[in-house]
Amino acid sequence: MLYKCDICGLHYRSKRLAESCLGWCSKHNSCNLKITIHSIEREQKKEKTDGN
Ligand SMILES: [Zn+2]
Repeated sequence: MLYKCDICGLHYRSKRLAESCLGWCSKHNSCNLKITIHSIEREQKKEKTDGN
């Protein structure tokens, strides 16, 4: 089960992270790197670079 931030569209495995992202995005209208680093999109990027 993945949780999505409706504002920036990033996905998270934890509801708590998705909610913090949503809260941050709606307040600041930008992404918090400390939160987005936990997103699925970021993790996949990391795996790809590690694999290659
Ligand atoms: Zn977000």
